Amino acid sequence: MRSISLLAPAKINLYLEIIGDAGGGYHELAMVFQSIDLADVVTLRTIGIDDFRIRCDAKEVPLDNTNLAYKAAALMAKQFPNAFAQYGGAEITIEKHIPVAAGLAGGSANAAAVLVGLDMLWQLGQTVPELQQLGARLGADVPFCISGGTALGTGRGDELEPLPDVDNLYVVLAKYRNLQVSTAWAYQTYRQQFGKTYAAAPEQLQQRRQRLHSGPMVGAIARKDSHKIAQLLHNDLEKVVLPAHPPVARLRAAFATAGVLGTMMSGSGPTVFALTPDLSSAERVRQQVQNALNDPDLDFWVAKCLPNGIQLSR
Ligand code: ATP
Repeated sequence: MRSISLLAPAKINLYLEIIGDAGGGYHELAMVFQSIDLADVVTLRTIGIDDFRIRCDAKEVPLDNTNLAYKAAALMAKQFPNAFAQYGGAEITIEKHIPVAAGLAGGSANAAAVLVGLDMLWQLGQTVPELQQLGARLGADVPFCISGGTALGTGRGDELEPLPDVDNLYVVLAKYRNLQVSTAWAYQTYRQQFGKTYAAAPEQLQQRRQRLHSGPMVGAIARKDSHKIAQLLHNDLEKVVLPAHPPVARLRAAFATAGVLGTMMSGSGPTVFALTPDLSSAERVRQQVQNALNDPDLDFWVAKCLPNGIQLSR
């Protein structure tokens, strides 16, 4: 038996702008992704089976072929039939720490770990861009989850450019345990309400991509100016998710008055995060917001910005 354990970090979006339609129901996005050290542990074991078996004790996570980690393994088997024939399948154990359906790309991070893990176990020697190209077939967030750190994402979010590391910020995250926001609903509703603001002509789209590239957020990241980064947090999806889910709006307001550098919803939510300059202020903010809202359904996490994606777990 051979086995490998990988850390699969969650992401937050420091910036998420919807700039147009990408066709096929997808949106053209201009985003800044950031990895955080809230991570799942994904262990792959070759145990002489000829398929892939998912194990996970989080009840919301499917164990069948709809699991994104399974889909990643099936894609690798199809892409590298000789290695699959030589080494066989694997048991994939997901130790879940990233909340599920939270806008933190947990499933995408697991898929990214399986691509990297099978590349190692099967001794394929694929480059990061090669694995990212495969990952894009599984989901728009998978390529970022492989390389992680801080990056610009355009297109569907899968056209990546690395940015200097944001390594001086802590993150407090909070999510109502029983509140679900469908990502598809959030984007469809946004299209219904704001579709008329979309850039249509290719040069208009290019202009709006460029606006993020040469804009103040990327400048603040380059200068490691945490105050400015926090002031410039942006997420277009807040415009549809906050009005439809008042508890998420209240949570965001509670963070905003807790002395944080900045606060924002991540992805399509419903997780809200706040940035702080150090661990002690992160812990203080968590306590303050927990006391203010005093809701047993509310879960909190404290994390640190991370300069990397998938890594071997020690
Ligand atoms: P994103 O931010 O990329 O939209 P998310 O963080 O909101 O994703 P996930 O945690 O990836 O959401 O889960 C979304 C859905 O995908 C879940 O409801 C779950 O049923 C399904 N799913 C499939 N595979 C996984 C996995 N490995 N981990 C978590 N959820 C998974």
